[in-house]
Amino acid sequence: MRTQGDVPAKAVMGNLGKDCFHGVSHPLMEGSTPISRLDIACAASTEVWVKRDDLSAASYGGNKVRKLEHILSEASRLGKKRLVTIGAVGSHHVLATTLFGRAAGFEVHAVLVPQPRSEHVVSDICATLNAGAHVHPSASWAAVPWHVMRAMTRDAYFVPPGGSNVAGAVGYVSAARELAVQVRAGECPEPDAIFVALGSGGTAAGLAVGLEIEQMKAQLVAVCVADPAWATIAGMRLLTRQTAVAAGLASDSEALSRRVRVEASFLGRGYGHATAAGVAAIAEASKLGLTLDDTYTGKTFAGALAYARANANQQILYWNTLSSASLEPLLRGAPTERELPEAIARLLV
Ligand SMILES: *Cc1c(COP(=O)(O)O)cnc(C)c1O
Repeated sequence: MRTQGDVPAKAVMGNLGKDCFHGVSHPLMEGSTPISRLDIACAASTEVWVKRDDLSAASYGGNKVRKLEHILSEASRLGKKRLVTIGAVGSHHVLATTLFGRAAGFEVHAVLVPQPRSEHVVSDICATLNAGAHVHPSASWAAVPWHVMRAMTRDAYFVPPGGSNVAGAVGYVSAARELAVQVRAGECPEPDAIFVALGSGGTAAGLAVGLEIEQMKAQLVAVCVADPAWATIAGMRLLTRQTAVAAGLASDSEALSRRVRVEASFLGRGYGHATAAGVAAIAEASKLGLTLDDTYTGKTFAGALAYARANANQQILYWNTLSSASLEPLLRGAPTERELPEAIARLLV
């Protein structure tokens, strides 16, 4: 039987134009992000490359930028004036949504839940408040719906955690297409495996659909960084299907599910808890000029390194999702940790 996977990319693209790419009214990306080879010891004839989404935007990069281009555009198209979102205190997603949402003229409300305290988390929450977020502290996930309902006025657009709805994932369908163009232009070899962090799932879902549309050979290895892993994986699989439908790919395509392999052995104690392998990978990346974090990118790069050392003849692409922009301009005039409202400080556990 002929499956959607056999449909030439051009035919699929006809649907994309109609159903899911409405055009971006709020462009945030500053061109394609660069790709370069990393000089590290690997198994024979294996190479590791990096896709620098840390450089997606000058003021604040990382993977939330591509998602927000489409989310802000959808919110505008629906005539919404306010964004309501959710995240752990110090969330990259909440910071990015506040920065880019406010710049686009939206009021931004964020319901915040606790997360382990680190310097990184503290800087992010201080920058978030400085950027003008209205924050609603919630002592637990159980109380989140109540806070969200209160913030959801008629002119509000709900942005799920991590910006992982179909609109957000579409940003990563485009990212895979950007990679295909770069491969065709000879900027890097066609990857056999692409390693990306799996948190709320929008990044992996969009990439899986985009790789399928472009009929690239790469397997997407989604390194699970959020617990419980089963729920993280189920959410990503569901969003992948929804995104595939929006993009005009068959939602039950077996090829699409084979496309993604979830790697759950780098999670450690859970979301936000550092692991030894992650810390070692961060140190190794730092020698190569890449700054990674404990929560997402350290664990993901650890997965890529372990694979690169165990498998010969592989072209591996590590997709870097952490902003490398300096927070300094965003912290100018921001509250310090001691000046944080008590209800926010209590979320730093
Ligand atoms: C949010 C985030 C991720 C996870 O991406 P999802 O689309 O939520 O799975 C990965 N890396 C960093 C640095 C992030 O901030």
